[in-house]
Amino acid sequence: MLRIALPNKGRLADDARELFADAGLEVRAQGERALTASLGGVFEAIFVRAQDIPEFVADGAADAGVTGWDLVLESDRELTCLTDLQFGRCRLAIAVKEDLEVNGLTDIPAEARVATSFPRLTQRFFADRSVRVEIVPVSGAAEIAPHLGIADIVVDLVSTGSTLRVNGLREVATVLESTARLIARANSSGDGRGRELDDLVGALQSVLRARGQRYIMANVPRDQLDAVRAVLPGITGPTVIDLLNGGKHVAVHAVSPAAGIYRTVAALKNLGAEGILVTRIERLMP
Ligand code: AMP
Repeated sequence: MLRIALPNKGRLADDARELFADAGLEVRAQGERALTASLGGVFEAIFVRAQDIPEFVADGAADAGVTGWDLVLESDRELTCLTDLQFGRCRLAIAVKEDLEVNGLTDIPAEARVATSFPRLTQRFFADRSVRVEIVPVSGAAEIAPHLGIADIVVDLVSTGSTLRVNGLREVATVLESTARLIARANSSGDGRGRELDDLVGALQSVLRARGQRYIMANVPRDQLDAVRAVLPGITGPTVIDLLNGGKHVAVHAVSPAAGIYRTVAALKNLGAEGILVTRIERLMP
């Protein structure tokens, strides 16, 4: 049975559980604080800190794991991204005090002190650009460092930017963009578990794909079918089904992007559609 490391708390924990549940792999734990659980009776989950997941996976304590790409790169272990899970979107950003005359990398003073809980990535970022800085490693709350006088600059994760604003800091550059990823050891495809991991990736991807789509059903006048086809391309074109009303109307079913569904429904109505239904899709495997 594959062992999957999931974040035990923090920003990624709830989204990870929800994604696995939507893929049919519900967390079934013995209690709130259980450290392991069954994932739908198919896999075993272990709950650990998101920061520790790269090490656990690299060392073989888990076969795969869900954690932020920022933490994977910071760990510097040989890991591979099996799929982007599209949640936990954030960026590792460089920020300075609002009143500091720094608007880009070139303005950063030589030997500036940089507080960060991402010392490896930060070190590499500045070294690659030949900017000499002194790294001040912190384990969290880097944004307080400029106010305490222990650093001039911070490199920290930013999602909405409100934490930086509240702390009087201004973003001046991006080190990297990150999302949550499913990761495995770099060479795991050859160790007999590759097939199971492929199935897991397929299941998670089918949920992510489905989240961006809706299933739309409508009865439309038969003589408008060409115009309907233009509005509802579907995956392979809409399904068209005869109705028992003498052939005047037909039912059309199609998968359509969720982002444009408002306009799609309006366009169908303009073509004389009736009985329009829009539903969510649980999983989509084209
Ligand atoms: P925000 O105020 O929304 O910009 O969030 C910034 C704070 O949340 C910082 O303390 C970050 O360390 C943390 N944070 C934001 N996004 C993430 C993420 N995807 N994963 C982990 N921590 C995050």
